[in-house]
Amino acid sequence: MTETGPAVLIVEDEPQMRRFLRAALGSHGFKLLEASTAREAVQLATSHNPELILLDLGLPDGDGIDLTRQLREWCTAPIIVISARGREEDKVQALDAGADDYLTKPFGTNELLARMRVSLRHAQQVGSSAASPILQVGELRIDLGRREVAVGDRQVRLTPIEYKLLVYLARNAGRVLTHRQILAEIWGSTHGVQAHHVRVHMAELRKRIEVDPAQPKLLLTEPGVGYRLRDRS
Ligand code: CA
Repeated sequence: MTETGPAVLIVEDEPQMRRFLRAALGSHGFKLLEASTAREAVQLATSHNPELILLDLGLPDGDGIDLTRQLREWCTAPIIVISARGREEDKVQALDAGADDYLTKPFGTNELLARMRVSLRHAQQVGSSAASPILQVGELRIDLGRREVAVGDRQVRLTPIEYKLLVYLARNAGRVLTHRQILAEIWGSTHGVQAHHVRVHMAELRKRIEVDPAQPKLLLTEPGVGYRLRDRS
């Protein structure tokens, strides 16, 4: 069953890295497409409509961030950036450009597969029209119809902003959301509202949903980048 799974486009100019990815993913039933330049990547994305894209940032004919922006104009497949650039601002730039996730090289096969599963599942949920009125992420349960939140058996009371934040995080469970994305989604603008507003509300949210807010298990900080609600499934 080597060619039956989701089609994954690998955009990477280093043959060694492509070999690693082929070895890591080949036995998991993915159908692999390979591009070594930005130009090839656009061609293959257009002709084969892959379900997931793994994207290196340093390409011989262009930058992966620009390519991400370009792909995002029409392509809905999740993009996971794989890069040796590990600085926070690189991650923020890639995510703000429309990438779904970011892995810093070197990374292990298991971590890559886990991130790919999250991205593919999320794309499927977004694509399915029969949206459930219940969002369940591990112990956390959000009833969108009744606007009720529970952690295990415990009912949780939230302010409207906290509720909006939690729903946004839960709809994107497992993915990093940047400060800019959160500001735009919750406040509708990145003007006037600052990143520290996000921090304050996240701290409040943690007090309500975490057993120990000082050691969060659900609502994780990605230092310098943003926040991620842990997806335990
Ligand atoms: Ca490269």
